[in-house]
Amino acid sequence: SLSSRGKGLFATKNIRKGETVFVERPVVSSQFLWNALYNYRACDHCLRALETAEENAQRLLGKSSLVLPHPEQCSIRKDLHQQCPRCQVTYCSAECRQAALEQYHQVLCLGPSRDDPAHPLNKLQEAWRNMHYPPETSSIMLMARMVATIKQAKDKEWWVKAFSQFCSKTANEEEEIVHKLLGDKFKGQLELLRLLFTEALYDEYLSRWFTPEGFRSLFALVGTNGQGIGTSSLSQWVHACDALDLPMLQREELDAFIDQLYKDIEKESGEFLNCEGSGLYVLQSCCNHSCIPNAETSFPENNFLLHLTALEDIEAGEEICISYLDCCQRERSRHSRNKILRENYLFTCSCPKCLAQADDADVTSDEEEEGEGETDDAELEDEMTDV
Ligand SMILES: [Zn+2]
Ligand SMILES: [Zn+2]
Ligand SMILES: [Zn+2]
Repeated sequence: SLSSRGKGLFATKNIRKGETVFVERPVVSSQFLWNALYNYRACDHCLRALETAEENAQRLLGKSSLVLPHPEQCSIRKDLHQQCPRCQVTYCSAECRQAALEQYHQVLCLGPSRDDPAHPLNKLQEAWRNMHYPPETSSIMLMARMVATIKQAKDKEWWVKAFSQFCSKTANEEEEIVHKLLGDKFKGQLELLRLLFTEALYDEYLSRWFTPEGFRSLFALVGTNGQGIGTSSLSQWVHACDALDLPMLQREELDAFIDQLYKDIEKESGEFLNCEGSGLYVLQSCCNHSCIPNAETSFPENNFLLHLTALEDIEAGEEICISYLDCCQRERSRHSRNKILRENYLFTCSCPKCLAQADDADVTSDEEEEGEGETDDAELEDEMTDV
């Protein structure tokens, strides 16, 4: 998740801790490509996990005999699932199939060419996968859906405006983001991606997006504004089980079962538990970062609907901030935190915590040896541009 410096989201009324500030649907979203290839089955439109909680646990454990207690707490409704009749991608519901078809799927449907490696869209995805191994942070298909959305739209200008709300960067910053997204090994491959992208999707109306500069901008837009999405049938089942009113002994038994299950899954599948993808959210992308955030994003509906929830009481007029760092990163020193923020999001944080730690030594105990090249002057300069 990222945002523009210079924008900001402010509370217009008092918000209580734990309250949902808003629920937001992405303008466009897409599952990550390796995630899909590895059979993390998700709705092609809203990323809702499609396996039952039990199937999900069985696959992650590599153990098809596993039986989950309380199967009635699983929320997956297979009877509602639908496929595109031409290409067989699966949706969680008729509504999602229809929404996808209306917004972008007419352009992106592979029809009978779904498994044809020579199809331009398959070539594009193959090239992306080869440059972007897990853990994934972005997908070329998010950009493809942006193009397809405008190709299909009656009011093209409306969509161009919708996408232009996301923060844009200078040419130098875009270069840095592209480099970060593709990594050292593949930084020269942007041109290859552009050629494949053009072959698969070129559109006269959007000709600017297919130029080297325009493509880099599009790439950077997705890189800086894409918010990660994670869904899981199993975690929804766990939440439902947590909410059950059980006699103490049964409660302890169930809790112990779930704890052990997660330990076993971690051994087998590591950190890759969820269906994962990313999306572009207009409101969320306006939220600035703080190392002591007063709000957080989550996906409790097991689909792409983003919930922004208050972590503290927030007063009217106060800025609503989320953290771009995970909780481990947030515990690190100001120097370490800002190194991550600069590398990934191109800004230096001046939140209250960072300001309070401004006089701390630059390098902390054991965390890192690198990063010595950055002088206080460089940091000062960065901080000034944030004001
Ligand atoms: Zn869906
Ligand atoms: Zn289709
Ligand atoms: Zn900070």
